Amino acid sequence: MAAFPVRMAARERVALDALEGRILAQAVSAQEDVPAFDRSMVDGFAVIADEVRDASKAAPVRLRCSGEVLMGTAPGMRVVRGSAIAVATGGAVPDGATGIVKVEDTTRAGDEVLVFDGADAADRINLARSDVSAGDALFSAGHVIDPPALGLLAAAGVASVEAFVPSVIGVLITGDELVAPGELLRHGQIRESNGTAICGALSALGFSPRRYERVPDDRPIFARALARALRECDGVVISGGSSVGARDFTPGLVGEAGDPGVIVHGVAVRPGRPVLLGMVGDRPVLGLPGNPVSALVMFEALAKPILLRMFAKVDDTLPSRAVLSEKIEVGAGLEHRVPVQLSRAPDGLRARPLFGTSSQTHILAFADGIVVVPEGMTSVAPGSPVDVWPFTRSRTLR
Ligand code: AMP
Ligand code: MG
Repeated sequence: MAAFPVRMAARERVALDALEGRILAQAVSAQEDVPAFDRSMVDGFAVIADEVRDASKAAPVRLRCSGEVLMGTAPGMRVVRGSAIAVATGGAVPDGATGIVKVEDTTRAGDEVLVFDGADAADRINLARSDVSAGDALFSAGHVIDPPALGLLAAAGVASVEAFVPSVIGVLITGDELVAPGELLRHGQIRESNGTAICGALSALGFSPRRYERVPDDRPIFARALARALRECDGVVISGGSSVGARDFTPGLVGEAGDPGVIVHGVAVRPGRPVLLGMVGDRPVLGLPGNPVSALVMFEALAKPILLRMFAKVDDTLPSRAVLSEKIEVGAGLEHRVPVQLSRAPDGLRARPLFGTSSQTHILAFADGIVVVPEGMTSVAPGSPVDVWPFTRSRTLR
């Protein structure tokens, strides 16, 4: 299959304070050694480890305390035989010292220190570079920055990085029957639910969704709305009208919007069979089926991995392993994606399948993820281990 390059997101320099949840546009390496010097792991005394190895309550080792390392300063002196220098947790280990005795294992009298236990003194030094070394690769482009990553970047002296600017994804909701929540719902009308859910998933993935006014099932109006979204956005997600009915205009209009046009129309997957993937230039256009379950399942399965290419990302979602609690039975000839609800059990996770139709919004809302039953398999027995693929939920769980 030919390659269809997807436009990359723009990049901008972002200071650490504003980096939480952002996606790296560059590989980042450590600027500095961490720690930059040998540090004490405890509050205590820097010593020559050999001298205190056999110290005990019965036979303490007596050392002269020749000074103190002040936090944030280089030790001005050296530990010589018969002496110790006081040092706090994280303080620089003075030259000559090969171990630290804990303050709890000593008593101090004037300028003398009595050491009662020094057996592990040599293990209480965080050696220079034992965290990371200057130049070490930390994160690749596409990495989503979370709070622990912010901590590492700060520790390694990285003050700002190149991050991707959230690409703008247009969201077009089609259907004459759809009415927004809060508006009067007449008989025969349907609450519009995909717009909010799709925009939420886009934001959670780091995009900037731009939601347009609802598009009626009117070809010229739909054509104008699509043309506008393609002018204003880096990609477009359409809900509804992706099938082959008389009023399903998505395939025809994506085909006419520009080259290469429709790339995939229809997949052997349930729910979501009539999904469409098109490209207009380097802008992806995803035509999701209108049924809410189909729409979101296909958003995860198809839209997400395609759109994430804008951020140099592959879909790196990790599944949870669970044991199926009830039998899954599906028809032959298609891959099936079955929503499941997870619960804890003493020996791991249980996955309970949530059966229903693809119009039932509660199914996905109550589910924790999807179990994929590959084509060719028509049942999965209770007790089987299954991989549960989580939905895009929130920025921090991405
Ligand atoms: P369509 O894909 O346009 O043929 O729509 C399939 C079914 O999904 C129809 O019953 C629509 O009423 C319903 N539907 C379409 N769009 C939405 C939406 N945005 N929110 C909720 N239901 C929808
Ligand atoms: Mg429709």
